[in-house]
Amino acid sequence: MSKKTLPLSSEKLLLLTEKLPTPFYLYDERAIVENARQFNRLFSWAPGFKNYFAVKACPNPTILSILQKEGFGSDCSSLPEILLSEASGITGENIMFTSNNTPSDEFVEAYRQGAIINLDDITHIEAMEEALKEVPSLICFRYNPGPERTGNAIIGNPVEAKYGVTTDQVVDCYRIMKEKGVKRFGLHTMVASNELDGTYIVETARMLFELCVRIQKEAGVRIEFIDMGGGIGIPYRPGQEPMDLEAVSQGMHELYNQIIVPAGLDPLNIVFECGRVITGPYGYLVSKVRHVTSKYKEYVGLDASMNDLMRPAMYGAYHHITVVGKEAEACDHIYDVTGSLCENNDKFAIDRPLPRIEKGDVLVLHDSGAHGHAMGFNYNAKLRAAEYLLREDGSVVMIRRAQTYDDYVATLRFDGAPVEL
Ligand SMILES: *Cc1c(COP(=O)(O)O)cnc(C)c1O
Repeated sequence: MSKKTLPLSSEKLLLLTEKLPTPFYLYDERAIVENARQFNRLFSWAPGFKNYFAVKACPNPTILSILQKEGFGSDCSSLPEILLSEASGITGENIMFTSNNTPSDEFVEAYRQGAIINLDDITHIEAMEEALKEVPSLICFRYNPGPERTGNAIIGNPVEAKYGVTTDQVVDCYRIMKEKGVKRFGLHTMVASNELDGTYIVETARMLFELCVRIQKEAGVRIEFIDMGGGIGIPYRPGQEPMDLEAVSQGMHELYNQIIVPAGLDPLNIVFECGRVITGPYGYLVSKVRHVTSKYKEYVGLDASMNDLMRPAMYGAYHHITVVGKEAEACDHIYDVTGSLCENNDKFAIDRPLPRIEKGDVLVLHDSGAHGHAMGFNYNAKLRAAEYLLREDGSVVMIRRAQTYDDYVATLRFDGAPVEL
């Protein structure tokens, strides 16, 4: 069962909230590093194993360079994400460019940077060639199995998904690229999001292994790597179990030996694009209670809003809450925990049992290290929070300052700049 702990003692955390304006994000370097190492260790049997960390999950260069030192690459879907990767020391084929509905200038930039281009559609072959005026020597395709797989709840049914090439198109994609002179090939899919059932991941590996065999037979193309995408979930609720990654690794290894080795396709490199499972549990949103109010329900109003962490309001997602210093107290009060947006769905929790809360209490929202700060926005002109890193030596450093009013208005033109037509 997952335990919801703080990365430092309550006393130290409270001290931090006296020094630093709240709300802020805090990331735990030691835990991220240990987790990254464990992930690599679990798949050490797999040829060419690498996780291309999904930049969108936590687009902070300090976090990215911590992961780069552990041998991670990055998974990018836009030019700014590629530039952030480079600023973090992640370059060339350590960048997976998995985009969709791709603008041509991003094909150009990805190619210029030597990133692996992962094409989302059969028509993108032509679009890419038009943009690049040549074809890369390495190309990957994103595969969408459609009715052959059922999706999970968050990512939805593959038939309804906008991504990837279909079962009917996939072999042709490789045939066409081979004819155009491409020498090296990857095969990608992503059919899960926040999945906790490991058998789902193993079945995805089976699907890709079998497809590698089919592509070899029908197009004479040998796949160099499979990219399993991201989508490994984390136990947001204290009662949930994390995915058994050891069993997943073992299950994939067995299938590799059953399918890939006899087909003569060993070595086949295996890579992932996980974001959430890498940093999610090791980021915390720290916020102070502004007001405790009693209406038709009991409300705790924080100085953070859904601008800082959108998942509860957007998906009804559960984020565990610790009231710092009251960990031992009984959760005998029921509260809605809210922000201050003029939007009634601006709630971090609804009917949540918590200890009795007072003005000034510090609340920590757990598991905010992925798809947390990154999904922030400025509605109601709420400014974005700062990010801090708890270093392995116990020191705390700022890795993103809080947004200011000047930042917020920097793109405005009060003089109404004329547009030449
Ligand atoms: C979002 C995304 C990921 C990362 O997903 P996680 O749930 O953070 O593991 C990886 N690859 C692609 C293509 C994505 O869109």
